[in-house]
Amino acid sequence: MSSESAARAWACVNLEAIAHNLDIARQALPDTELMPVVKAGAYGHGLEPVARRLDNHGISFFGVANVGEARRLQRAGVRTTPFILGPTFPEEREEIVQNGWCCTISTVAEAAHFQSLSALYEKETALHVAVDTGMGREGFLPDQLATAAVQIKGMPNLRIEGIMSHFPAADEDVPFTQNEIGLFTDCAGTLQQYFSLRYRHIAASAGELGYEVPVANLARPGLLLYGVAPMASIYDGVLRPTLSLHARVTLVRELPAGHGVSYGRTHITTAPTRVATIGIGYADGWNRQISNKGARVYINGHYCPMLGRVTMDQIMVDVTDVPGGVQSGDEVELFGTHIPVAEVAAKAGTIVWEIFTGLGPRLPRIY
Ligand SMILES: *Cc1c(COP(=O)(O)O)cnc(C)c1O
Repeated sequence: MSSESAARAWACVNLEAIAHNLDIARQALPDTELMPVVKAGAYGHGLEPVARRLDNHGISFFGVANVGEARRLQRAGVRTTPFILGPTFPEEREEIVQNGWCCTISTVAEAAHFQSLSALYEKETALHVAVDTGMGREGFLPDQLATAAVQIKGMPNLRIEGIMSHFPAADEDVPFTQNEIGLFTDCAGTLQQYFSLRYRHIAASAGELGYEVPVANLARPGLLLYGVAPMASIYDGVLRPTLSLHARVTLVRELPAGHGVSYGRTHITTAPTRVATIGIGYADGWNRQISNKGARVYINGHYCPMLGRVTMDQIMVDVTDVPGGVQSGDEVELFGTHIPVAEVAAKAGTIVWEIFTGLGPRLPRIY
């Protein structure tokens, strides 16, 4: 095994599975271009390796969270244009203009700043107008759009090439989302009177799976690429898992009945119990909220229940019933092939997005 395998815990990332899931998204939306979302280190999978694998894979942009991630893509030699999804600080815009990265604007003041920087560097800057159709995070309100468009139209160094919005409740409120699609369609129509819009986009993974948005021609799948469909759908069983989390047993001991396990002694053994200590904890991203929620891990072909609270670097599990026994050094699956990441998220009372992005920098990623 490689030197990384000496680590107590690690994540295995399957780049081919991510490429496969991108192909699934493409097949589902044959007339729509794609912006794979690789923000937050490609949801914990590793920004550079994922972007390099999907680069030149027939995609239009990479969705990133901020300028720092755009810079990392550039340094990694990635050719696809980074698209900065969130608002930008004034001091970041010079770099955006000079490198020809793409981003959104939510105010006329931002547009004016991009205009003056673009004039200074003799560049044409491509921007997408964000509209707030319900998310409350960024964008022009729909009724501000026409007035803003008139002002932005007079800025010669800007190329307004897109309109974007974002569903706040695609997986929770169908009527709201359907209404929102109508609103977005109207906004696109308004903006189209002033600019030639090459891109119109609103859907992330849930929107992409659940709704028809005829006006849209670009989609921004994130979670879908990482193997999880946010809405139960035809995609179940078609998407491939992309990341599995592993650790090693560090110690196996026999505890008598009535012995506490872990901080707070929230678990007390009711019978003599063989307890394995495993080298992963909340500092690695094994969420502490999963303590005492019936979580299980997979060791030597068997499911073993977790006991007591997650500690910073270690957890304990009950291996009494593993027929062939368990030894120090044995490999443990926390999630992956045998335990879906969605099960872990549900037990931790959170969402898969947070489980992925919570995986710590200490965990080596093995590709
Ligand atoms: C994170 C994000 C996405 C991707 O969302 P998923 O639900 O993971 O597909 C798309 N668009 C925007 C604006 C985002 O912030």
